[in-house]
Amino acid sequence: MNLAFGYVRRSSYKQQENNSVEIQKAYIQEFAKRKNLSVPEEFIYVEDVTSAYAKRAKQRKELMRLKNMMIERGIDKVIFYEESRMDRTGYSFVLDFYRPLQDHFPNLEVYSTTSDTPFDPSDFRTKITLLLYRQESEIKSERAIASLTSFLNNEEKLRPGSKCPYGYELVNKMLLPNEDADIVTFIYYMQSWGLSMLKIAAVLNEASIPSPSGKMWRPSSIEAILKNKVYTGTLTWNVHKGKEPKQYEFNDFNEPLVDDFLIKLINANTKLQKKYGRLDTPFTFLNKLFCRHCNEKLLTQNGSTTREGKKYDYQYYVCKPCNYKLDKTAVHNALLPIVLNHIETTVSGAGVKHIALDYLDQTNRSIEKNIEKAEERIDILISKGSIAEEQNDNEYNSLVKSYHQQEANFLEECVNKQQVLDELREAVQQDLIFSRFKSTLSSRLGETETRLFILYFVDQVMISPGEEAKVLFTDNMLEIFDLCLTGQSTE
Ligand SMILES: [Zn+2]
Repeated sequence: MNLAFGYVRRSSYKQQENNSVEIQKAYIQEFAKRKNLSVPEEFIYVEDVTSAYAKRAKQRKELMRLKNMMIERGIDKVIFYEESRMDRTGYSFVLDFYRPLQDHFPNLEVYSTTSDTPFDPSDFRTKITLLLYRQESEIKSERAIASLTSFLNNEEKLRPGSKCPYGYELVNKMLLPNEDADIVTFIYYMQSWGLSMLKIAAVLNEASIPSPSGKMWRPSSIEAILKNKVYTGTLTWNVHKGKEPKQYEFNDFNEPLVDDFLIKLINANTKLQKKYGRLDTPFTFLNKLFCRHCNEKLLTQNGSTTREGKKYDYQYYVCKPCNYKLDKTAVHNALLPIVLNHIETTVSGAGVKHIALDYLDQTNRSIEKNIEKAEERIDILISKGSIAEEQNDNEYNSLVKSYHQQEANFLEECVNKQQVLDELREAVQQDLIFSRFKSTLSSRLGETETRLFILYFVDQVMISPGEEAKVLFTDNMLEIFDLCLTGQSTE
């Protein structure tokens, strides 16, 4: 008889006893028997799920141990209790578990006890089922799946030739990057350095790169690309049901042309811009300068005057209460070398990666603690809820429900932050962040680039006439990614 491995998850939720480890194991044994497979007890891996919420597959210790053991023992069959045990985060199961095994085993068979046919990630239905696990329960119904399947099957009809998104071509109903893909990536890259759509269009036109319609690029054609989520691998599905059309999004649907880190950076830039004002300004220290005497924020003054037929521009940083002006160029000449020197030292220091990873780990630990506490509170709320229900206390029950909702929202925020954190960790490890600054520092900086550097690294500058300026730097530039929890947890 052929040997196979098994995998079950032990949930920390006391309420989920109907999914207990024993029941899951029994299902696996029964399934194995039907398939004429043998699963020795010690071949069943049990994962303690500390969090009921999503985690990338490769962060699951037992799953990774299982993968290694299958390779070591040369056993190419494994049975999961059900699909949702395989992957709640969507596609990471395929990337972290299935694909590496597939490289070893040409006849890999990954089963779930709910289906007789082995798991096949290229199968449309499998893909959809996995994707739906992350969605609201309302679209988990058979009918919704059928409707989504037909929507996707009709993709070709919906997007004939010219309507296929720029940078892709349609091959067997799949979007594959074509020769224009690099242009799309470049457009996002330019945006990540703060370039406006007008400027991006100008750069492309100057390079004689034709627009999607074969003409000149215009800001609107750039905007259409920057707004299209297809480039991050997301499928947008519009459902017209009833009065209000609903939109569903599925991540990791097609090959992305823009990596997540760039999107995170662009979002962070947008937030910085909201907080500190425009990126394309000659006042690159805008809203970062404070008066050493009165601690007020310096304002800007911008104008021009004509003397003897010649036009003079004047640009000043101004302290209104103390009534003085500082010449913009003089301020920049004094401050920029200090700032760039600091950045250079920071990003090229040997420990920079280490410090960044430490910061991320620390933040992650605090998020994890918060998740743990929130889950404990939810456990309590669930038992309070069932008591309220038993006693028909509707008022109390609805109060409990609203607390539960708050906790669930908070957990969602935690998980989202953890996802950002994971992506940042990967970006740090792959040297995407700091090399980005290094390579830019060596070339002449444009206005928006300088401005972004200042926003990332300078906390504030204390300045006044005749005195040396004091530059205060940020502790860690990763703070721009806003990893701290804002959600209010209820005690
Ligand atoms: Zn002042």
